[in-house]
Amino acid sequence: MSEKIVQTAGRDELGKFAPEFAHFNDDVLFGENWNNQDIDLKTRCMITVVALMSSGVTDSSLLYHLQNAKAHGVTRKEIAAVITHVAFYIGWPKGWAVFRMAKDVWTEDTEVEMDSAKSAHAAEMVFPIGEPNDGFAQYFTGQSYLAPISTDQVGVFNVTFEPGCRNNWHIHQADKGGGQILICVAGRGYYQEWGKEAVEMHPGDCINIPAGVKHWHGAAPDSWFSHLAIEVPGENGRNEWMEAVDEEQYGGLK
Ligand code: MN
Repeated sequence: MSEKIVQTAGRDELGKFAPEFAHFNDDVLFGENWNNQDIDLKTRCMITVVALMSSGVTDSSLLYHLQNAKAHGVTRKEIAAVITHVAFYIGWPKGWAVFRMAKDVWTEDTEVEMDSAKSAHAAEMVFPIGEPNDGFAQYFTGQSYLAPISTDQVGVFNVTFEPGCRNNWHIHQADKGGGQILICVAGRGYYQEWGKEAVEMHPGDCINIPAGVKHWHGAAPDSWFSHLAIEVPGENGRNEWMEAVDEEQYGGLK
């Protein structure tokens, strides 16, 4: 015997105005139908969300049923899959409308999942993740982090990319010498030179980037990624930042 559903919204809101409707709502719909055991409660919650979504009902009753679904074990991943699936059949804009509400209901789940994924990634490497890389955010798609490892002699920075995060095409310019060395220290990501295939990077992999070569680096779509970025000494070294990596091209990487 699973949890017994008890509902008082009918009597609370319409008990005086429409006592019969209130009775049907609390005693029959929620009292009998919702307590029917032939479908498990979690499934019933999802079906209800789908029914309201399909009818275009995106008011407080949908919000209630989204919260109810979460309270009965529907995860952020599951509700996202449900809404995406149903949107194909009933119309994309309805998917958008429901996602806007669901985002607020599962809000802290996203943060908790993100935090635990970040901690798991941090535990895989000896270098710190550091702070949000705000100084370079304009040249990145997605969230990255920066931890200075060496700021004397040769600059060495640990750069961490959240899944899907990458930097724009850029060139490390120098009048003499210069360039950059990347050493992957955790996770999985990519390095790509202009006109060449992207190269997958795993912990221990080293990439030597000569000055003047147009390239980008960043995480795989589904993995955290960290690399040490070593500034190769040169004369008048500077970064030239260019366009973002083409969305379709990046999306084709696994
Ligand atoms: Mn670079």
